[in-house]
Formats: sequence, structure tokens, C-alpha cells
Amino acid sequence: AQDILSLFLRQCSQNPQAPFLIAPDGAVLSYGAAHARAAQLAHAFRASGVKPGDRIAVQVEKSQTALLTWLASLLAGAVYLPLNTAYTIGEVRYFLSDAQPALLLCRSEDEAAMAVLCAEIGVPSLLTLDAAGTGGSLVAAADGQPDSIERTAVSPQDLAAILYTSGTTGRSKGAMLSHRNLASNALTLLDYWRFTSADRLLHALPIFHTHGLFVATNVTIAAGSAMIFLPKFDADELVRLMPQASVLMGVPTFYSRLLAHPGFTRELAARMRLFVSGSAPLSAEVHKDFSALTGQAILERYGMTETNMNTSNPYDGLRKPGSVGFPLPGVDLRIADPESGTVLPQGEIGGIEVKGPNVFGGYWKMPEKTAEEFRADGFFITGDLGFIDAEGYVHIVGRAKDLIIAGGFNIYPAEVEAVLDEISGIAESAVIGVPHADMGEAVVAVVKATDPSLDADGVIAALADRLARFKQPRAVVFVEELPRNTMGKVQKALLRQEHAGLFA
Ligand code: ATP
Ligand code: MG
Repeated sequence: AQDILSLFLRQCSQNPQAPFLIAPDGAVLSYGAAHARAAQLAHAFRASGVKPGDRIAVQVEKSQTALLTWLASLLAGAVYLPLNTAYTIGEVRYFLSDAQPALLLCRSEDEAAMAVLCAEIGVPSLLTLDAAGTGGSLVAAADGQPDSIERTAVSPQDLAAILYTSGTTGRSKGAMLSHRNLASNALTLLDYWRFTSADRLLHALPIFHTHGLFVATNVTIAAGSAMIFLPKFDADELVRLMPQASVLMGVPTFYSRLLAHPGFTRELAARMRLFVSGSAPLSAEVHKDFSALTGQAILERYGMTETNMNTSNPYDGLRKPGSVGFPLPGVDLRIADPESGTVLPQGEIGGIEVKGPNVFGGYWKMPEKTAEEFRADGFFITGDLGFIDAEGYVHIVGRAKDLIIAGGFNIYPAEVEAVLDEISGIAESAVIGVPHADMGEAVVAVVKATDPSLDADGVIAALADRLARFKQPRAVVFVEELPRNTMGKVQKALLRQEHAGLFA
């Protein structure tokens, strides 16, 4: 199968009674029932004017119905365009003008404001959905529609979705993802992570991002397994439902919060077969603490909106703390000089570049940007810096945009952060470069301490024999919390702005 919908329809016809979504209260939505509802939603989309190839923009709270709109979009042959629920009207204006969807599905409470916006921008249709997914004009339009539908024929290279990047390093870009991009990655992960129809995935991620929408959902569909579908992350709920689950996919903060939860024990974790982490770097400290508590190693993988998943630690074999594992089957990954593109010898740090059926076709309406980010031989320049160790494991040392150049030396934030995180009394850290008259940039450590008596001198002293002098921070800033976005990514651009004046 070259597309997710075919995988879904196959499960629906082979095993319609099998559970697809399980609510926190235990209520089950089977594959057959999910298909019937998705068909009604697809009819509602068509009735509001959506034609094959049109974009459907969606900004609604996470609910079962919200997830089914992804399948309904596929049934209607539309291009799905989910938006972060945190985006303000002003931000949504940008995305809608950029993407020109045929339909916007918004939260019921946003209807009035969005109607104005749609009129202004020329989005012809507007539907609403409430937070529970049980009310709103979409529900009204879907109720009573036929519960089957002739799917729109697509070819593997047609667009399935436009997914905007997280905007961590600048303005979000719309990544154009084809049916083949998504299906190839889902099938690869199905195999690599040994999913079967018996799996129960604890799903507590948002569904406007590649992690929760594509990695979790598409692998589940490919396996014919089920998701225990939570509205959001809540450590108590995860602990309560874990006995019914077999897999958790999370961002690193899920794991640090679980570790801090008294109910998260070795016995509880023992029933799970797999803990996956991604979207942001998992600190080696959390990885080790997790192994010490549970006897299980978190499996860290690396992906992007533009590429789906690129690398993964192995299912069997060593899951190395601080590493994102091996390139997935079918994914070519190389480390190249960021400027020239020359491939570097094993072990050297450079830009991570990837090529494979998982890699997107380009940025929506940004041909120049797309051209800049691809090499002539088709490799995509991820913007991440890393190296491959002697055993073939990929390590990420930071983003190219976060590289610090102080006094002519390259300093990779991840290396300094790893050493900081090992200091007892430091919970987590973010290392940035800020303008400095002599050195160009100076290294600044922003740390969240657990020990109130820890001060800057203490931190620097603890680093003295563990990091070369030029890598040591010139200033240590203590914060209550690191600024993170919904995907648990540290907002380094924000930190750089905030501390730009430290050496001015
Ligand atoms: P933008 O591209 O708009 O600046 P973004 O890159 O954060 O935002 P995403 O596509 O959500 O948007 O995130 C992909 C990035 O997340 C990767 O390029 C990488 O920097 C980071 N990432 C993902 N998984 C990992 C991981 N396991 N370890 C370290 N970094 C990771
Ligand atoms: Mg990015």
C-alpha cells in the first residue's frame, strides 16, 4: 500500500470489530465504526464544497472526531492542514492566507472571529467542532450522512497533507507531504518497532504535529492496533492507564514528569513493551534515570515535519543515551560540510542530510527556500548538526542556527548541556550564544536548578575539569522553567533575545 487510507481501509474490511480508539473511560471505537464516522465527515466536507486536492485547515482541540477528520480528509481526496491550537487569530491569518484552504474547521468558540477572517482572506467555507468533538456545525453536517463513501482516487505522489513546522527557528514553513511519504514511513516504523494488532498505544501528544498525528496514528493504522486516546498529557492519567497499554510515544518532558511521579514504578513499566521519545533531545541523564528505575531503555528517534522519521535506536540491541540511533531502512543519511556539501569522514561533526521516500517534496509556495535546502543530488539539508560514531549511531549536537562561535571556536550546545545536566543540583539546561564584543559570541548557560544553594560560581567550578575553557559558560542564568513550546522544544531564539544584552 502506498497510502495511509488504503492501510486503514484494509484493517476496516479485515477486522471491523477491532478497537481503533479507546477513550480514557474505556469506551471503544472500532475500526468499522471509525470508518463509518469518517465517511460521514467526508460527505460533510464534500457538501461544504471541498474538492479533491483542496486544502482543509483544521484548528480544533484534540478529540476522537478531530482525529477522524484526518481520515475524512483522505477519503475526500483533500490535503489536510492541521494548525497548532495555541496559534492566535493573527497567526492563523498568516497560515490561511498562505495556504488558501477551501474549508476551515475551527473551535466552536472561535466561530465569530474566524468568520470575519475567512471573509477577509477568501476562505469559502467554515465549520466548527467543540472541544469534546461531539458538537458544532461539522457534527450537525455529518449526522445523517451516508456511512460509506467512494474514496477519491489518488496517486502516491499526490499531497496528503501540508504540515507547518514548529517555528522553533523562525517562521513556520508548510511541508508538502505526499501519500507515499507518510505510508513508507509508517510501514518502516511498523517493522522497526515491532508493532502488531495487539498493541495499545498511550496517546497523549497533540494531533496537529507530526509526532502525534503521523508517527503515532499512522503506525497504529498500519498495525491495525489501537490507541488509548487522551485529550492531553497528564501524568496521573498515564499512570492510571498504563496497565492497559503496551507502548508510549512521548516528548522528553513526558519522561522527566513520569520519573517525578510516585506512581510510576518498575512494576507499572514492566507491563509496557516500548517507550519512544522524540521531537526534542532526550537528555542522557533522563535516559539513565529511566533505565535505573524501570530496567527498560527509552528508545529515542529523530524526525522532522519535513521528513517524518529519519533515525531510530534499535528495538533489539543497545539504545544509546544521547544518540538518536541508526538511519531507518530506506533512509540515506550523511554528514556533510554545511557550506560546501562535501561529505565528511566518519566521526566528524557536520550538517545532517537525508534522502529517501520519507522526505517531503518541498515547502508550500516557497520554491527558493526549497531549492536552498536540497542538494543537487536530492539530499535534504535538515539544519541539524551531528556526527556518526564508530558503531554507526547518529548523534545530534544542536541545530546549525544554535551553533555558537566564540573566539573563532565552534561550540555545540548539546555537548555543554550534557555536562551541565550531570551536575547534581541541575535539572536541565539550555546553552546559547549571545553577542560579545571581543569573542563575537559568548557562551551562556540557562539552567533550571533543583538545589537552591547552587550559584554561578558553583556551576563554573563543577565544569572546570570537564570542559575545555573555551566551551565553559561566561554567564549562568538561573530560571524556574526553560521556555518550551507545546512539543517540549526549548525556545532558544527567545532565550537569545532575552539575554542579548548580557555582555553589551
Ligand atoms: P522550525 O523548522 O519551524 O524551526 P522545528 O524544526 O522545531 O521548527 P519540527 O519539524 O517540529 O520543527 O522539529 C524538527 C526538529 O526537532 C529537528 O530538526 C530536530 O532539531 C528536532 N528533533 C526531533 N527529534 C529530535 C531528537 N530525538 N533529538 C534532538 N532533536 C530532535
Ligand atoms: Mg525545522
